[in-house]
Amino acid sequence: MRIDLHAHTTASDGTVSPADLVAQACDAELDVVAITDHDTTVGWGEAAEAARRCGTGLVRGMEMSTWYRGCSVHLLCYLHRPDDPALAAELVTIRDDRVGRVRAMVAKLAQDYPITWEDVVAQAAGAAGARTLGRPHIADALVAKGVVADRAEAFADLIRSGGRYYVNHYCTPTEQAITLVRAAGGVPVLAHPGAAARGAILPDEAFDALAAAGLAGLEVHHRDHDAAQVARLTALAARLDLLVTGSSDFHGAGKPNRLGEHLTEPDVLDAIASQGATGVLRPAS
Ligand code: AMP
Ligand code: FE
Ligand code: FE
Ligand code: ZN
Repeated sequence: MRIDLHAHTTASDGTVSPADLVAQACDAELDVVAITDHDTTVGWGEAAEAARRCGTGLVRGMEMSTWYRGCSVHLLCYLHRPDDPALAAELVTIRDDRVGRVRAMVAKLAQDYPITWEDVVAQAAGAAGARTLGRPHIADALVAKGVVADRAEAFADLIRSGGRYYVNHYCTPTEQAITLVRAAGGVPVLAHPGAAARGAILPDEAFDALAAAGLAGLEVHHRDHDAAQVARLTALAARLDLLVTGSSDFHGAGKPNRLGEHLTEPDVLDAIASQGATGVLRPAS
């Protein structure tokens, strides 16, 4: 079984549509793929439709923007009820604040570079109006204007966290997010918790607190983790009885990550499915 539980689409900052994600998962010979767009489930319907047509199983999920004592923490959430009112309202708050934040970053950048709000909106024209805006869309606008060659170059300097054009956005406190996700029948797993190059990472004590709050697992196998982080996170998961996942964090052409480059064990998916409210969509056999 080849199971990849972390992938983005045009519903957030990926470059392939939800249907094309499922098609590419088929081509990559994945048995199961998860759609995990940032702070939205708007791609679920299209992905489910595509999964019915091809032979790949689908886990419906998302990656929620959270904040733990000064650290940006990405929380993967699997199989929750998308219409849960409390969680849905929190996601609206995050997405709305992301819009103001991108506007603020563009206003700063526009003082020095040829970029407008309309340029960014044009790059994010995927799922009309519902798509989660992020810095990758600013990067794409800068690429279109010839300011940088690709997203990676934009993130290396102009739009990097803490840089002169950077503006924060609202994120849910991580423990509150875990509570909201569990109440919505979802299964919360920390995304790339050892990705030190992205910024400050959680200290060991934080994992104890988050496990106590209801965390289900850790994404241990991810390209942003070096061998030392894999060893550390494997030990933390064993000590705290957390599930261990591995995934690609595919963003289409937006990142070099390839579908299936890291995988999750079938028994771990079974454990996630047994805790989730909405079930894995399996291909008819
Ligand atoms: P934001 O959530 O708007 O702050 O933007 C962060 C997103 O940008 C993450 O979800 C990453 O997928 C993406 N990102 C971060 N660094 C890079 C990079 N070097 N190249 C491409 N995408 C990146
Ligand atoms: Fe992303
Ligand atoms: Fe992430
Ligand atoms: Zn991701």
